[in-house]
Amino acid sequence: MQYSDLCSFYERIESLSGRLEMTDQLVELYRSTPSELLETVVRLTKGEIRPGFEGLELGVAEKLVVRALYMVTMFSIDEIEEEKVRSGDIGIAAEALVGRKRQTALFHEPLTVSRVFASLSRIAFVEGRSSQDLKLKLIAELLHDSSPIEAKYLTRTVCQKMRLGIADMTQIDAFAYIHTPEIDELHDLLIGFGLSDNDEHVRAIKKHLPTAMNSFSEPHSVLKEKGLDKDSIRSIKEKVQEVKALVQQNRETIVRAYNIHPDLGRIAALLASGGMESINEVKVTPGIPLRAMLGERLPSISDIIDKMDGRTALEYKYDGLRVQAHITGSGQDVRLFSRQLENITDQFPDVAGYLGSMFRGEDCILEGECVPVEAGTGSLLPFQVISQRRGRKYELHDKIEEIPVVLVLFDCLFLNGSEMIGEPYLKRRGAILEAIPGLTEDIEAGQGLALSKMLLITDAEEGEEFFIRALNDGCEGVMAKSVGKESIYQAGNRGWLWIKYKKDYHSELNDTLDLVVVGAYHGSGRRGGTFGAFLMAAYDSDEDRFRTVCKLGSGFNDRHLEELPGILSGLRTEGGPHPQVDAGMPVDVHIIPQIVLEVKAAEITFSPVHTCAWGKLKGNAGLALRFPRFTGRIRDDKGPRDATTVHEMIGLYRQQVKTL
Ligand code: ATP
Repeated sequence: MQYSDLCSFYERIESLSGRLEMTDQLVELYRSTPSELLETVVRLTKGEIRPGFEGLELGVAEKLVVRALYMVTMFSIDEIEEEKVRSGDIGIAAEALVGRKRQTALFHEPLTVSRVFASLSRIAFVEGRSSQDLKLKLIAELLHDSSPIEAKYLTRTVCQKMRLGIADMTQIDAFAYIHTPEIDELHDLLIGFGLSDNDEHVRAIKKHLPTAMNSFSEPHSVLKEKGLDKDSIRSIKEKVQEVKALVQQNRETIVRAYNIHPDLGRIAALLASGGMESINEVKVTPGIPLRAMLGERLPSISDIIDKMDGRTALEYKYDGLRVQAHITGSGQDVRLFSRQLENITDQFPDVAGYLGSMFRGEDCILEGECVPVEAGTGSLLPFQVISQRRGRKYELHDKIEEIPVVLVLFDCLFLNGSEMIGEPYLKRRGAILEAIPGLTEDIEAGQGLALSKMLLITDAEEGEEFFIRALNDGCEGVMAKSVGKESIYQAGNRGWLWIKYKKDYHSELNDTLDLVVVGAYHGSGRRGGTFGAFLMAAYDSDEDRFRTVCKLGSGFNDRHLEELPGILSGLRTEGGPHPQVDAGMPVDVHIIPQIVLEVKAAEITFSPVHTCAWGKLKGNAGLALRFPRFTGRIRDDKGPRDATTVHEMIGLYRQQVKTL
């Protein structure tokens, strides 16, 4: 398979913003990919060599790519740098430079997908003193044989700036359509009713394209134009519904596997070798992080008790960093993962040490909140303190003493060879104690591990008392957890088995929101030379798009204003908003949706300019925030698709109306 074919596909994807059209393109690409290359093509499309949680980074600095471009094109370093600044993107610069290169090669070997992946793998794995030279050589070799468009995507890939904007769930949709053989029966049915393979819609069904299925099931379906009688149309529509349900079933099966083994490359490899059947074999495995279970929210303890059928567990809701700990080899090997599934073991060697020495058993996966505590007393400290330890490579040992942390465990997902995620809550809680015998709910600085404080309640007053105690002990509220028979661990899902209730719910707008920066405005006066405000968006998970909710200008201190332009500099898009951003208001700088900020606001109102939930609750209006304020917390533990969703905004608006 030629790399140029893949690049042509990337170009098409970049010009699309609709989720269904993107899925069409992916279905076409993956169906035409030889099965032995499917994993490679999926990884290249994600811009990775290995899954993110393995922590292997291509990690090539743009400077090195500039040198490789110099070797291949013979433009001077200054000329290359100028082109980079002009286009604002290393990929576009490389495309232009390779297109005009001064030196034409005598011998040129077309790039294949396998060769590109093999070279990129060497670049990612090479270590040691002369590694930079070898990386330079490998990149130059690839660029030497590249067409301009290949150079564009190669340089973006090595610099880890691929950003095609394809959500993992869109890829999963494509897999589900490809692996639903009943779509072929639909095709045969159409032919049986006298339609021809020359018909564009019939051809599209043959290719398993989702847009084709939709065109048949919509009320003004294209079927009417094809001169079919009523009965034939009814039978076809019934078949379309049946096939759609099967696609949905396959999608759910793949999502389940993805939630416990979040590696699309591996899923692709399994599908390529054994189809849907092999997907069912995916099991929870120590060493491979699961996607986190998340909770809904309600505005009062009595609402929660009602929702939980009269009885619930309440746990302290600690404010720190969510950690999933994977222990193997009877405690010999401990790996810690963040909520974003990054391996953060190196940042918390103390926590890994406590787990390794206190664990009794063969292997397990535990989940908890890592909180900073006061050295002498063990009192909880504000979460901000822990961020001083994140991302730190140097002086880590001083920081470990200065800022001790405790991992407060609240779940057990795997124990001694057995999956626990299908077990009810109380059994999983019991398993935590089996894994770490003697664990107590008391937090002590030197102890390193604790069990989350928990109370079973049936009565709201009792719950309120526990909630106040949680606040007095320095927590941000409580987490209610279902104790029913069905109270399993729903990896990767936000559901009603967990419900959060926080102190913020007593004031202004319930809870903080996590919003994505999609645009920026130049500052003036004291903020001259930096940004003065940002355009913020919520995530529309149905359409995989970002829809705006407010212009955010307050709550920033000098440090933030200094930091943010740097953080956002690599995320500018030239010439218009990112295709996945839906904004009705102009900005000075368009930003690729990536950075998540925590925001507080007075209330949710209707707005004629913001596009969140546009027309859903009121014609010609979207939902917007009144008096939004940055809390000071950059949510670097969240990706753009973990931000507050449009659904949640609608829910919060409804709750607000109810409270009023
Ligand atoms: P979410 O995780 O729901 O997207 P968020 O990250 O903004 O939202 P919160 O709404 O404050 O966080 O609450 C959920 C988080 O609370 C969990 O992801 C987890 O990190 C933390 N947490 C603290 N204590 C507990 C507990 N006892 N049980 C479960 N989660 C807890």
